[in-house]
Amino acid sequence: MPTQDGTLSVEEISEIARIINERVPDPNDPCPNCHQLASVVMPYLGRVDLGWVDGMMRGFSTAITICNHCGFVRHFSTAHLGVEGHPDLVPITYEPLETSGLEAKNG
Ligand SMILES: [Zn+2]
Repeated sequence: MPTQDGTLSVEEISEIARIINERVPDPNDPCPNCHQLASVVMPYLGRVDLGWVDGMMRGFSTAITICNHCGFVRHFSTAHLGVEGHPDLVPITYEPLETSGLEAKNG
């Protein structure tokens, strides 16, 4: 369980790395920016703030990876990874966008 400041234990970091590696097409998961194999899980949880929604400040908890070569940062929703998030953030629910809608906008 993350501490109040979001610090992760070595075991939690290893579990997050295992889950992410399990879900990527390339087990080496190169950095999408520089393509180096130097990304690591940061020892802190992050958050993505969504601003004011329905009169409440909303956001969600993230696990963060950073590329040690170029510094590219990636956030992974802890709810989607199935790991415990930041204790101050209540997981949000949302309706996923339909792929066909995105294709129509891009096409
Ligand atoms: Zn990089």
